[in-house]
Amino acid sequence: MRAPFGRVLIANRGEIAVRLIRACQELGARAIAVYSEADHGALHTRLADEAHLLGPPPASESYLNIERVLDVARRAGAEALHPGYGFLSENPAFAEACAAAGLAFVGPPPNAMRLMGDKAAARRLVAEHGVAIVPGYDDPDQADETLLKHARGVGFPLLIKAATGGGGRGMRVVREAEGFGEALQGARREARAAFGHDTIILERYISPARHVEVQVLGDQQGALIHLGERDCSVQRRHQKVIEESPSPAVSPELRTALGEAAVRVARAAGYWNAGTCEFLLDEHGQFYFIEMNTRLQVEHPVTELVTGLDLVQRQLAIAAGLPLGLSQDDVVLRGHAIECRLYAEDPAHDYQPSAGRLERFEPPPGHGLRHDVGYAAGDRVNTYYDAMLAKLVAFGEDRATALARAGWAVERYVVSGVATNLPLLRWVLAHPTFSNGQATTDFLAREWRPPSGGPAPAELLAGAAAFELSTPVAEPSADPWRSSKPWRLLEEGVVLAYQGETSPRAVVASRAARPCSAGACGGAAIGSAWSVSVEGQTYLAVAEADGRVSVNSGERRWMLRVSRVEGGVIVADGESTFRLARALPPSIEATSGQSVEPGGPTRLEAPMPGRVVKVAVREGQQVREHQTLLVLEAMKIEHTVAAPRDGTVQAVRCREGDTVEGGAVLVELASSE
Ligand code: ADP
Ligand code: ADP
Ligand code: MG
Repeated sequence: MRAPFGRVLIANRGEIAVRLIRACQELGARAIAVYSEADHGALHTRLADEAHLLGPPPASESYLNIERVLDVARRAGAEALHPGYGFLSENPAFAEACAAAGLAFVGPPPNAMRLMGDKAAARRLVAEHGVAIVPGYDDPDQADETLLKHARGVGFPLLIKAATGGGGRGMRVVREAEGFGEALQGARREARAAFGHDTIILERYISPARHVEVQVLGDQQGALIHLGERDCSVQRRHQKVIEESPSPAVSPELRTALGEAAVRVARAAGYWNAGTCEFLLDEHGQFYFIEMNTRLQVEHPVTELVTGLDLVQRQLAIAAGLPLGLSQDDVVLRGHAIECRLYAEDPAHDYQPSAGRLERFEPPPGHGLRHDVGYAAGDRVNTYYDAMLAKLVAFGEDRATALARAGWAVERYVVSGVATNLPLLRWVLAHPTFSNGQATTDFLAREWRPPSGGPAPAELLAGAAAFELSTPVAEPSADPWRSSKPWRLLEEGVVLAYQGETSPRAVVASRAARPCSAGACGGAAIGSAWSVSVEGQTYLAVAEADGRVSVNSGERRWMLRVSRVEGGVIVADGESTFRLARALPPSIEATSGQSVEPGGPTRLEAPMPGRVVKVAVREGQQVREHQTLLVLEAMKIEHTVAAPRDGTVQAVRCREGDTVEGGAVLVELASSE
């Protein structure tokens, strides 16, 4: 495909701006980025061919400021404008303003956008064209009594929706007639604040339901096709978290029916370019239209992976007036794709958005994985805009393969500096309801409970150690102090340490005889048996094939699953899952400890068991940063514990010759200030 435009303005930010920039550049077009003051130096501005400041951080003064965006487009000589999703993407007045300014708007015609942007009007149009809508009320008469009367007719539970809503906002589920009045006022208030309109529609609340949507694509010449469906049933607060294509709930016959319905709706709206018809599928296999999104969707990559088409490049070609050149029969769906949205939000605390600097951001590369990212390590995440950091998309020849790849990747995805929904993604992908393809839209609200925050039980540490010792990995690091390999400690066996809440937790393991005869253990056992001591308790741990480890305390037996991740392992005991990070051997940073209270002394701890061979300071002594405080011997190597900063030695908690536990406080240091 040749570039339909030479210069394209990308009126968005984050991962979608990055995605659009790439599509333009691949076509040989110049990608022009815009940014707000909060996004100064953001990834999309670094990747674009040029970047222009829009204004202050609030979206209303930057990404939503039509005059500013058009002004930049004019000055930069853009021929086309891609709005991405969110922001100005579904604003028909903006699309018209683009046309008036001589810019090709990459999206549908403004009238189709206006029609479908109103859920009430869309419902009426769709029903006229013989496609089922959710039983409900969508009349302009908005009097309270009229709405209540119709609510009784629709029946409870029902859903109050803002007619111009989006992003799951302006919605209220009402379980019985008594709560209707209050919910109505609430939905109106929210709709007015978020969208500037408070027209309400009522729909029967369909539950259980699956969210199944159909991607359509049409050109300005009138060709209109569909690209199969996406299942977006895993939602939090009516917002999508995981999407896949094809839907595990859709048969070939249903696919044809859904596709025909979507194309009929798009045709009725006079639609071209990319769009999505969203449906709810009830437990009887009946589907109902809920809305049409007149833009590219967040989850478009799953469709790209199963169709092999680049939707953004198709959108650009269509906007330039080029014919689609594809018929329905040309669309062949192959394999399965699953997308996970990585949000900077804490699923354990009411999905609260999280801001900060991304200390680490490492999407794991791998076969069948696509990462659409909006950030890189070192970037700042702010809370002015959407909390989505990236999308992880896994592709495979079938659903099981795609699921396994997605599961592998979420376990290994490393993000630090902000809270993320990774624990939730890991939990969903491992949950039988999802792996069996049975998730409905209420799945998360009903089932998700944040993992318990407490420390991992000792038997899990024992199992983790047995697994690691039985399946060693080569490590490039030659420095024994920085290596995360186990350290052989004299005759006692092998010592590993896992990072606990504040200090390392040591595990001492030595080889043991297998607890059964060779025959009884079967051929599956790969690892050896280990006698493992953790915090005063001794376990017999045997690593079997496929990461299974049995741990026996003499009184109880656990069957654990262990897998390796960067810097540690993940251990699951069937009920809960813990990530165990390996504590690094002693180093200045590792022994720096933490103040127990702000302004209190810094406690320098032994990061692993060892013997104190020299104490170089006494209580009350002034010390300078990096000054040697004491020398610890472990692994027959001496290690210097030094002062992390200037200060006064407040207490020395060990004596020369002492054998100390991992985590034991060695010295307390008060700051000079
Ligand atoms: P938005 O414009 O916010 O995306 P939608 O109408 O597409 O709003 O609905 C978003 C989600 O809310 C759906 O995916 C579904 O989970 C839920 N929902 C919407 N309408 C209904 C309904 N009538 N019954 C049950 N759930 C619904
Ligand atoms: P998709 O259907 O593409 O998955 P979402 O509902 O998750 O879309 O919304 C995509 C983005 O657009 C999000 O950033 C969401 O907050 C935003 N969004 C969607 N509809 C609206 C709207 N009507 N007003 C404001 N923001 C919206
Ligand atoms: Mg929707």
